[in-house]
Amino acid sequence: MRVDVAIAGAGVGGAVLALALGRRGYRVALVERDASPPRLARPEILWSATFAALDGLGIGPRILAESSVPLEAIEVAGPEGPLLTLSREDFTAAGTRPHSTNPTITRAILLEAALATGNVEVHRGVAIDGLLKDGERVAGLTGRQGDASFVLEARLVVGDDGTQSVVRKSLGIAIELSPFPIDFITAEIRWPAELAPDRGYVRLNPASFREGLPVLALLPWAGGAGVLLLPLPHDRADRLFAEGSVAFWEELCTLAPVGRELWDQLEFPGSFARVKRPFGHAAAYSAEGAAILGDAAHPMTPAGGQGANAAIGDALALAEAVDSGLRSGGSTVPREALLAYEKVRRPMNARSVAISRSAGRAFRFGGRLPLPALVPVLARLAEHAGFPKRLLLRRFGAAFVSG
Ligand SMILES: Cc1cc2nc3c(=O)[nH]c(=O)nc-3n(C[C@H](O)[C@H](O)[C@H](O)COP(=O)(O)OP(=O)(O)OC[C@H]3O[C@@H](n4cnc5c(N)ncnc54)[C@H](O)[C@@H]3O)c2cc1C
Repeated sequence: MRVDVAIAGAGVGGAVLALALGRRGYRVALVERDASPPRLARPEILWSATFAALDGLGIGPRILAESSVPLEAIEVAGPEGPLLTLSREDFTAAGTRPHSTNPTITRAILLEAALATGNVEVHRGVAIDGLLKDGERVAGLTGRQGDASFVLEARLVVGDDGTQSVVRKSLGIAIELSPFPIDFITAEIRWPAELAPDRGYVRLNPASFREGLPVLALLPWAGGAGVLLLPLPHDRADRLFAEGSVAFWEELCTLAPVGRELWDQLEFPGSFARVKRPFGHAAAYSAEGAAILGDAAHPMTPAGGQGANAAIGDALALAEAVDSGLRSGGSTVPREALLAYEKVRRPMNARSVAISRSAGRAFRFGGRLPLPALVPVLARLAEHAGFPKRLLLRRFGAAFVSG
């Protein structure tokens, strides 16, 4: 088998790249380890700048209509009532709007659109394990599909294979992965009737900052669904999973009254996923005949809602570079063209990774402060002053795009 571009991993970045190149008439193969699309129970905020960028592929409106809830507000409250609200006025003043998206549906829409170009094929159930080489140049991918070996020749290989990228490792590209002190516990939910369907909710219990469940975030999805997120230090997440179901639900009900309804809907721990998200930035994005993008190039934490937005930004910039590289008619995409992609994207991705780094420091440093007293005061101050929350929103909504 030989294609123009072989992409390892059908994540959001790989799917956007396949669509962008398929529309330009290139033959693209997406090679994905998962035999069927997984249901991703994770909140994925896409910012307005990403929808603007996807409009160029004609896919923005469909993702907006079928996968997104443009948020009217995000309310942060403690046991004594509201602390801070990110309102529509704040979004407008910050020049952005968060859209709460269902990652499973977004990826399905992107893959369907890519396949509809007639130039894209998807190989599922194939775990990539290495690269084909022609001297110094990468000439394709190798992998396993069940007991069978899988070989695919390509003029360009792209790694969209996530934080532990095999493509990145096979290219010998260095990365230092920093651990993040917080685990993310997530679950897909039916959106509780008592909550507005276009608002995000964050519930804080300052009394549980040292022990128990301190934070619950709920974000709505289209179609009456939604997602729950519980950020928790590793050791406490370990204890929580060891203590069993009743202790967990009692803690959640203390944190937020809506916990009672979630208890009726979900099993603990069966309905929940738990992920660790280290972060870092690869030393390079390309080699002769190969490139990496998204989490493979710059794994991030959920802080600031950057990872998927950055992967989409990478895919669109890489598609430009690949197009100009392949149009010259050579057997491969010259490294020079791929360096142009890196030159555009590295500074933006560095800003997005910096948000994870700042969040990591804040969590570590915060452990030494009297947080139960401090957090409600700081939240109310930010609400009163207005500009700190707008500055943050502006940073989150544009870090991955602005020059
Ligand atoms: C709890 C949580 C909340 C998040 N919130 C947000 C948010 O609000 N906003 C935001 O923008 N981002 C968010 N993110 C991050 C975002 O989901 C990721 O950054 C994004 O999915 C990265 O996309 P990607 O295309 O780089 O790779 P991925 O989506 O990681 O896709 C990689 C693909 O490669 C496949 N793969 C891996 N290894 C192999 C192999 N050897 N062979 C073949 N296939 C392979 C995997 O199966 C997977 O399908 C969040 C993440 C988490 C966990």
